[in-house]
Amino acid sequence: MWNAENREWDLIPLTIPSRPRKGPRDRYLEVVDGNVSPDSNGDFIREDYTDEEIDAVHAFAVARLTIDLWEKAVGKKIVWPWNRFFNFEKLELRLYSKSKGARYSRDSQWISLGFWGPGERFVCKSFDVVAHETTHAIIESIIPDLERTNSTEGRAVVESLCDTVPILMQMRIKEFFDAATGGTKKNLRVRNNISEFGEGYGSGNVDGVRSALHPKQGDDHYSLGSRMTGTIYMHLIGIWERSASYEDFRKQVLEFSKTILRPITFLKEISPIRYFSEYNN
Ligand SMILES: [Zn+2]
Repeated sequence: MWNAENREWDLIPLTIPSRPRKGPRDRYLEVVDGNVSPDSNGDFIREDYTDEEIDAVHAFAVARLTIDLWEKAVGKKIVWPWNRFFNFEKLELRLYSKSKGARYSRDSQWISLGFWGPGERFVCKSFDVVAHETTHAIIESIIPDLERTNSTEGRAVVESLCDTVPILMQMRIKEFFDAATGGTKKNLRVRNNISEFGEGYGSGNVDGVRSALHPKQGDDHYSLGSRMTGTIYMHLIGIWERSASYEDFRKQVLEFSKTILRPITFLKEISPIRYFSEYNN
């Protein structure tokens, strides 16, 4: 958990549905030039990791959990678009890219994580950015060519889902959720580490690039998408405020993830307004 304010890691152990090897790498993912070794139990929780090694473990874990959420939500295994014919080439995670921002490339089979924001900080430390780009790769695996052929409205839905997935994931990790709520029932309605996308990479020191609490005006696909994300976020707040306990909420977030993510498996032409209604008809 990257603390944007103090610019340091709060290390928390995460369980992922995989036994990655040195790298880390598994059958879905590999960190390019990653050379991080697990401990004698096969866990990547050693205390002598360098900052670069923590970055690699973090990016891998977030990408792997992103795949896991999608597989649970849509009820099938993710197969990368380049692996249609019985090969298993991995999606590469390129940390410290020299290019600005972050990008998924189907042709190159990688996610490139460059720099952004004040001090040109590397975005591989951002949970949100890694989950966002991994979701682009997953959506294109589910519907090949969707992003190349769709309208501004269709791309808005894709961008919104890419921002919504890290919100759903962090709500299901207790440490992130406790940090967002301050351990009380309130506080999701004010700026917090889950409502802000890419905390620490916006204009101010701890600002996000986007905020689910303050959707953008404008007709470009990011702005249109941010309004859909804002609506979804407010709905999640409602679920939380009606939940009996955090464990109850956590289960409901998974069920809600299915409602949010499954429609994309059925649709070719999509818009933020029609996204849910068409699926329900
Ligand atoms: Zn995007």
